[in-house]
Amino acid sequence: MRKKMLNHTPERTCVVCREKKNKSELFRIAKISESNYSFDEKQKLQARAIYVCKTHECIKRISKNKKYSLKIEDLLTMVNLLKKQSKDYLNILKAMKNSEHLTFGINMVMEDIQHIHFLIIAEDISEKNDKKIIAKAKEFNIPYAHFGDKAQLGDIFNKDEINVIAIKNKKVARGLID
Ligand SMILES: [Zn+2]
Repeated sequence: MRKKMLNHTPERTCVVCREKKNKSELFRIAKISESNYSFDEKQKLQARAIYVCKTHECIKRISKNKKYSLKIEDLLTMVNLLKKQSKDYLNILKAMKNSEHLTFGINMVMEDIQHIHFLIIAEDISEKNDKKIIAKAKEFNIPYAHFGDKAQLGDIFNKDEINVIAIKNKKVARGLID
């Protein structure tokens, strides 16, 4: 079994959905004072902080949460980062779709797990499949991220829907993780 860690990052919990994720999958929001929260894009502000998933769903939900009363500018910045990032990701994947470095679909990923360096999981994957894939990823120390929806991932390969895409090339995986 492959046991080498590729990229170990600490985990934090999203204040909205309570899911534990890699810090790279979360936005940091610094608590400036009791009622003043500020988006910490560079993750460097010296203050206590909360974290929220880099997903439209969790950002939408935190925007409605009066407890954190985030500034509209901060919310817009987060949404725009999300859009830009997902577009970049999708474009990179589209450019590579015919290469041997990518594979997709739950069965293919499970079969090929030992050759995989990074997993991109659809945000709207079923909870059951999400757990199954994440358990496998953790077992083999494979970093993963939730990105786009099943239709967006499917679009890359001209399919209706795809649950998960796997990167089999180490360099490509690093490029996507950073
Ligand atoms: Zn969340």
